[in-house]
Amino acid sequence: MQTRDLSAHIPYSAGRGVEEVARDLGLDPDGLVKLSSNENAFGPSPAAVEAVHETADQIHTYPKAAHTDLTDAIAEKWEIDFAQVWPTVGGDGLLDYFGRAFLTEEDRVLAPDPGFAYYPMSARYHGAAVDQYRIEKETGFEQSADSILDVYDDHRIIYVTTPHNPTGSEMPLDEIERLAAETSEETLVVVDEAYGEFTDQPSARPLVDDREDIAILRTFSKAYGLAGLRVGYGLVPAEWADAYERINTPFAVNTVACKAAYAALSDDEHVEATVETTKWAREYMHDHLDAPTWESGGNFVLAEVGDASAVADATQREGVIIRDCSSFGLPACVRITCGTREGTRRAVEIINEVLAE
Ligand SMILES: *Cc1c(COP(=O)(O)O)cnc(C)c1O
Repeated sequence: MQTRDLSAHIPYSAGRGVEEVARDLGLDPDGLVKLSSNENAFGPSPAAVEAVHETADQIHTYPKAAHTDLTDAIAEKWEIDFAQVWPTVGGDGLLDYFGRAFLTEEDRVLAPDPGFAYYPMSARYHGAAVDQYRIEKETGFEQSADSILDVYDDHRIIYVTTPHNPTGSEMPLDEIERLAAETSEETLVVVDEAYGEFTDQPSARPLVDDREDIAILRTFSKAYGLAGLRVGYGLVPAEWADAYERINTPFAVNTVACKAAYAALSDDEHVEATVETTKWAREYMHDHLDAPTWESGGNFVLAEVGDASAVADATQREGVIIRDCSSFGLPACVRITCGTREGTRRAVEIINEVLAE
């Protein structure tokens, strides 16, 4: 038996896990500093951890009320209608839902290069063809409407990541609005704000009131520290928000994830401490890494180190796991997640030692 033709589908390559690396190197996992997957170095919100424990004896029931409560809380936070909040299994799940709702075999999408690998993967699952727009190192990875409009050709979805992974660059709100205005009404601009908590730039949230062709992706995986639970959501225009019911995998987000995300949403202290340390770590890396870095709005910094694969291997042997960006098409760069103060200092020290060799 054979699957359908999946030869154009490239498997997602995630940053390596601590246990995996520790096993390979024969090191103690507790001694490793993992800064390769943009996770929250502080761990989850304590309120979320408590909610997980409290939910344990309720997991025999489907997540009806928990789903509704989470959706309500998100709607209140963003001052948007309940129906315009699409809870999904991670932000990645939302990309799939946009694929289900919009893409057919006739469609093409436009994704950033370099960029998040799941945009093209998800689009291909849903039958669409993928084109890319460049975000150029030569311009400091600047993001503008024009660089996308240059290659735009009635694509059904355009993915914009701001702050952008892996470069950290941002697209100003007026550029996002211009992009939506200058493309077809039938082109959806997905504004991926997975790192939205870490930037001082405003969210594209208000544009969802003004336009039918902009939707926003947010996630609990980064600032809220719930990557392991897989929960994210979309904020979508009222005009087509009811499509959620038609495309939703029944119940979408699980009970434990709903309860934890609900608790995390009101734990301002955890998010504020996370964001504050992240900003400190970004500055620390800019100031102390012996390698060129770029301004970043995210919880990571891109650094140019020469042979990224060799550098990432060498730091890993010293217990510091960072992301070699070769798979993003940036073989000279590594992406370093902002750690705790201790973890970040350690990472910078080790990376500088490796660079000096
Ligand atoms: C992390 C990330 C997401 C969402 O990740 P989930 O864990 O699925 O919520 C989406 N877009 C980008 C660019 C990311 O880096």
